[in-house]
Amino acid sequence: MMNLKWMKFSICGRIQEDINILINGFDIDIQRKKDKNINLRVYPNLDIRASVPENMEMSSIKRMIISKEEWLNERLKKYEEQIRLTKRKYISGEDHYLNGKRYILKVVDSNTPSIKKENAKSLVMYVRKSSSIENKEKLMNSFYKEQLSLKINKYLPELESIIKVKSNGYSIRKMKNKWGSCNREMKTLIFNVDLAQKKDAEIKYVIIHELLHFIEKNHNEHFRELMEFYCPKWEQYHSSLNKILNDNKMC
Ligand SMILES: [Zn+2]
Repeated sequence: MMNLKWMKFSICGRIQEDINILINGFDIDIQRKKDKNINLRVYPNLDIRASVPENMEMSSIKRMIISKEEWLNERLKKYEEQIRLTKRKYISGEDHYLNGKRYILKVVDSNTPSIKKENAKSLVMYVRKSSSIENKEKLMNSFYKEQLSLKINKYLPELESIIKVKSNGYSIRKMKNKWGSCNREMKTLIFNVDLAQKKDAEIKYVIIHELLHFIEKNHNEHFRELMEFYCPKWEQYHSSLNKILNDNKMC
């Protein structure tokens, strides 16, 4: 099944077709480019886009897509899980993660908003009954921010002295597609607030990754060697972190 989605004129005036086709149940946006490379991507909103050389036969495109079926299903599953996890309601009984452990949320009516670890299994959110999901989410994020900064304040100075680099500080934010990033000129770091949900080893891995960018800008062989040296299990942490946040480029 094939349907024409839109036609557009490229800069040079040549008609360039962008079409949507259904292959093995996958709705794929095909973009033809002058580039010889084939690039297949799944986006967080579950869109699938394939950019292909402008003269590639449709039968070859179909074969390529079918050969990637398993990979596509895996990616889609990850994004579906991400969508499911981001739709939190902040109600009692819901699962929330902190430092690699699962906690059950208990929501208690209170005029003084706060979140506390009640024991090894539960987190208590004190909040007004009438509070909106958005406000509860803000409260959870500020709790995560506070928890993550405790970890970073503990590990960053240690790791800086091991690697022999020094940052000029860091900030914590909500980021969609990155666990961390750095500004090499300002020597500053940014960490994703969701790291608070992860284990110490994974938090340390992200700190090391960003600090190593002060030495090596690109993710090249030199960067890999540095990573192997300072964090031998980095590949394990990288894949476990990217189970949910997909297509992460650390920086
Ligand atoms: Zn990086």
